[in-house]
Amino acid sequence: MAGGFAKDGAVQEQIDATIEDAVRRARERLTKGESLADCAECSREIPTARRRAVPGVRLCVTCQAEQDKKAEIFSGYNRRGSKDSQLR
Ligand SMILES: [Zn+2]
Repeated sequence: MAGGFAKDGAVQEQIDATIEDAVRRARERLTKGESLADCAECSREIPTARRRAVPGVRLCVTCQAEQDKKAEIFSGYNRRGSKDSQLR
């Protein structure tokens, strides 16, 4: 019983390691030369941690939040617009 359990665990560990390795490799490839050191909007330095977390990052946290807000307003406006046309 104990032997079988250990075997299963070893296989799962191998799968996890393979996925982790693939993710790490894909992330490294994406990050290379794509993330900007300075924000494309305000030219403020983008923290290294953010550049690592977001491959190909072009905006600092502040400008990204502004863009997300704009996108939210835009999609909300679209939704409201389609609701209005349905009511008419
Ligand atoms: Zn910025």
